[in-house]
Order: sequence, then C-alpha cells, then structure tokens
Amino acid sequence: MNFLEERILKDGIVKPGSVLKVDSFLNHQMDIALIDQIGKEFYRRFADKPVTKVLTIESSGIAIACSVAREFGVPMVFAKKSKSVNIDGEAYVAEVESFVQKKKNLVIVSKKFLRADDHVLIVDDFLANGCALQGLISLVEAAEATVEGLGIAIEKGFQDGGYRMRNLGYQLESIAIIESMDEKTGEITFR
Ligand code: 5GP
Repeated sequence: MNFLEERILKDGIVKPGSVLKVDSFLNHQMDIALIDQIGKEFYRRFADKPVTKVLTIESSGIAIACSVAREFGVPMVFAKKSKSVNIDGEAYVAEVESFVQKKKNLVIVSKKFLRADDHVLIVDDFLANGCALQGLISLVEAAEATVEGLGIAIEKGFQDGGYRMRNLGYQLESIAIIESMDEKTGEITFR
C-alpha cells in the first residue's frame, strides 16, 4: 500500500453517492507534506516528458498542481470557473459538469497562458467520470498545445473516467485507485 492509500484508509470518509470525503488532508484542511509527496511522485512518473506547464481546475486541484509545478520548475495554470462566456475572445472556454455539485460550469484559461508550443501535464485531485479532465484536455487542444499526461491523486476505478482516458491513449497516472467503497461499512479497497 502506498502513502496516499494509507492516508485514505486512515482519514477518508465514504459518503453517499460514491463520494469520498478527504477534507481533513486534501480538500479543505491540507496536509502540505502529503501534497509535496504527491508532487514528487508525479515528477517521478512523468520525468521523461518535456513538461512546460502544469494545468488544473479550480479549486481543489490547485495545491497539488503547485507542488507538481515546483518539481518540474515550470508555471502552474488553473482553469477558472466563469459565469459568462468570455466576450472578448481572449480566453479558451470549456464546459465541465461538476461531479459533486451536479451542475455545469464554464471554465476558462487566458490565451496568454496556454500556447501552441506548450507541453502540458494536467493534474487533479479526483477522477470520477472524467468530465473535469475532458474539459481541461479540450482547453489544451484549443490552444493547439500538447497533452503530455494526466496525473490524478485519487481515481475512483469503479467510475468510467479512467477507462475512457486510457482508451483515448493518454498516459494516466493515478496514485491511488479505489476499486470499491461501501458507504454502509465505510470499507475501501484499492486496485
Ligand atoms: P469527474 O469530472 O471526473 O466526474 O470528477 C472529478 C472532479 O469532481 C474533481 O475535480 C473533484 O474535485 C470532484 N470529485 C469527483 N469525485 C469526488 C469524490 O469522491 N470526492 C471529492 N472530494 N471530490 C470528487
């Protein structure tokens, strides 16, 4: 069992609706030493890639993305949730359905911060159905930049995002892959 799986077993709480609550170390209170360990692990797994930028989505991916970007020595960019489609055309826009809130958000990245010659490592805290990753990939594609890989802290393997992303040919690296979780007993198993 790796460091993140151990922490999930210790402090993760299984909620109804296939939601894992990790707000004591990742999503609300943050264990920075753990997040730095996650950053180092992604660096190790993608060290052969010519990464020029780390991209995530606000807000819960930001801390992890900072840590990964520090390891690579490159900037971190986060897609911002936006209330309106950008009118001046200065940003790339994607629609992302939130897994937890079940609502659609527009997310934007300024065209200044994603360029055609960028090699982008996309990271996020969770992977469920893959909507967030799909939105981030479409922002990179709109910029005609290159997706170098996808780094996920916690993949819920019983939802189909991971399957879809690997099928599309991306290198997807998840530090913890949950095989099953039981909201009645709280039991969590890993792949
Ligand atoms: P997806 O877009 O892959 O369906 O869901 C991923 C996004 O939803 C992540 O950005 C994450 O913030 C959120 N999310 C999905 N499942 C969970 C979960 O079980 N727990 C928490 N805390 N966030 C989740």
